Amino acid sequence: MSAHRRLNGRLIIATHNGGKLREMRELMAPYGIDCVSAGELGLPEPDETGVTFMENALIKARAAAMAANLPALADDSGLCVAALDGAPGIYSARWAGESKDFTVAMALVEEQVKAKGAVTADQRGAWFISALAIVWPDDHSEEFEGRIDGVLVDPPRGTAGFGYDPCFLPEGHARTFGEMTSEEKHGLPEDGSLALSHRARAFQMLAKACLD
Ligand code: IMP
Repeated sequence: MSAHRRLNGRLIIATHNGGKLREMRELMAPYGIDCVSAGELGLPEPDETGVTFMENALIKARAAAMAANLPALADDSGLCVAALDGAPGIYSARWAGESKDFTVAMALVEEQVKAKGAVTADQRGAWFISALAIVWPDDHSEEFEGRIDGVLVDPPRGTAGFGYDPCFLPEGHARTFGEMTSEEKHGLPEDGSLALSHRARAFQMLAKACLD
């Protein structure tokens, strides 16, 4: 018997980020889970005071679950760059500044990577992390973390996706996330093999543990 708690019925997606909400809805659709976002419910965004992706995911999921008395799923994710000791990491969104301009954020990453003298592909390693947390109103929680490794490309390529997608080339692939369709980036292979994106990989673990 599974020690994990199963999900059914209604679920809050505790995000105010349109790109992440769209991906989550697509991933949840086949399981018949009725997803409503924290933004749609008018729930406030809590301060992300954690020092890890998972701590921040738990803060967001817990705040939404308690405010709406429904189970809530939150994702905290970001880009980590080896040459920058894992930065921007949990501060990935903040590097885009007030205007949330990821052209600026990608340029900043590139500037700092060059300043470290990282020029060859093996010096330009990077990875995305997605921490997924589900919290129920009784404070039970389930936690899953997915990762995809790759390299940073300069200049960024492609206009699909969001955030840092255009500068990230996943290992074993010739196109960046910004050049992939959403199906290629976060689709779940029907044969059950490993999905590509960090968020889809975390979701595969979640689905196995908490969905039918
Ligand atoms: P947060 O999880 O809302 O704190 O923000 C994470 C930030 O990391 C996003 O705003 C994006 O900039 C970046 N990020 C996370 N996942 C992805 C992805 O799949 N593609 C591109 N950027 C991402």
